[in-house]
Amino acid sequence: MPMTHHRRTRIVAAGRPHEPNSPVNPAVDFTSTFTYRPSVEYPQVYAREGIPSFEPLEELLAELEDGAHGLLFSSGQSAISAMLSQLPLGGHLIIPQHAYMGFASMAQHMADKGLFTLHRVNIADTEQVLATVRKVAADAHAATTKATLWIESPTNPMLEVADVPVLLAEAKALGVTTAVDNTFATPLRQNPLHHGADVVIHSVTKFLSGHSDVIMGAAVTNDAELNAELRAHRNLHGTIPGPMEVFLALRGVRTLAVRLDAAERNAGYLASRLSELLGEDSLPLVAVSYPGLPDHPQFDRATQLLRGFGAIITVEMTSKQTADAVLENMEVWTPATSLGGVESLAERRRRHPGEPETVPEGLIRLSVGIEDPEDLYTDLLHAMRSAAEN
Ligand SMILES: *Cc1c(COP(=O)(O)O)cnc(C)c1O
Repeated sequence: MPMTHHRRTRIVAAGRPHEPNSPVNPAVDFTSTFTYRPSVEYPQVYAREGIPSFEPLEELLAELEDGAHGLLFSSGQSAISAMLSQLPLGGHLIIPQHAYMGFASMAQHMADKGLFTLHRVNIADTEQVLATVRKVAADAHAATTKATLWIESPTNPMLEVADVPVLLAEAKALGVTTAVDNTFATPLRQNPLHHGADVVIHSVTKFLSGHSDVIMGAAVTNDAELNAELRAHRNLHGTIPGPMEVFLALRGVRTLAVRLDAAERNAGYLASRLSELLGEDSLPLVAVSYPGLPDHPQFDRATQLLRGFGAIITVEMTSKQTADAVLENMEVWTPATSLGGVESLAERRRRHPGEPETVPEGLIRLSVGIEDPEDLYTDLLHAMRSAAEN
């Protein structure tokens, strides 16, 4: 598929069979192994090494990020794990203070084992991040290649927006390896490889597959050597997705552009309607955060860097108890973790013991779906009123 076509076209058209009279959709092979004859060299041996059925989706994700190589993994976490395993022993890893909890826990677990030193930064504070990057890169004991900067933007769940191009340029100039988790922005809103990221990680589970029925991850890179290392890691650790997941994710990603447009429109509408409710004494609502709100601390940066503000909002209630009561009273929204599906989900993040204490107890993360926005608004308002009454 020529790179000159728009992403909206590529996402629908890429990864389809070219042969005359072929099925419109690529075949998905349900097999663990491949036949052979001892006298012949065949490329396919065993499915843990990857199967041809992965390739249409791997090529599509690589294309969407304008990257040379895409690799599927059994989950976002296993894609992250494959990348963290590339870090040389005794190096430094800089991560956002409010990074995705599963990632932050993995990084902490590896640091506790002495694999590397972990540094947590406010990823929205460019000066703070760069000061840490410079300090780590200058560390006499650390060759500069032993430091890695891990960016998430917008962050999960606090929605901080990093100055991705500046951070990547500076880190690159200092020889620091860079990884960007692009799950929240999706390849339709931000492409970190354009700014020199060494690798982009996705939880395909979320917006890309989009229907809350798949767990899958992906890594996209322009670096052939890194890609080979990640592929070897996937094979050795057995972190391949199943063929059914590949089918579902490819089917789901075809509609990403329209799903994301609709969800983002709903999110923008809800964020501004909810903001208008701030200060109403009868409601337990104390804060609304969305990168597309002019009072978001990085609104200008988000406007400049992201081709859309995304479909995640947070609302903060007066207390943990009130937030839980709001969730109990929801009917259109589904209280559940995860995000990026067509259905609207809501979750109080601090219900997870691993979520940092800087995330308010009363904070609810809203993953806005594609339902009627008026219904979503009315349901949330009703749930907040009912919670306030009890
Ligand atoms: C969910 C998520 C992950 C982990 O992905 P899984 O597919 O659940 O393993 C990583 N990063 C971010 C930003 C996420 O939201």
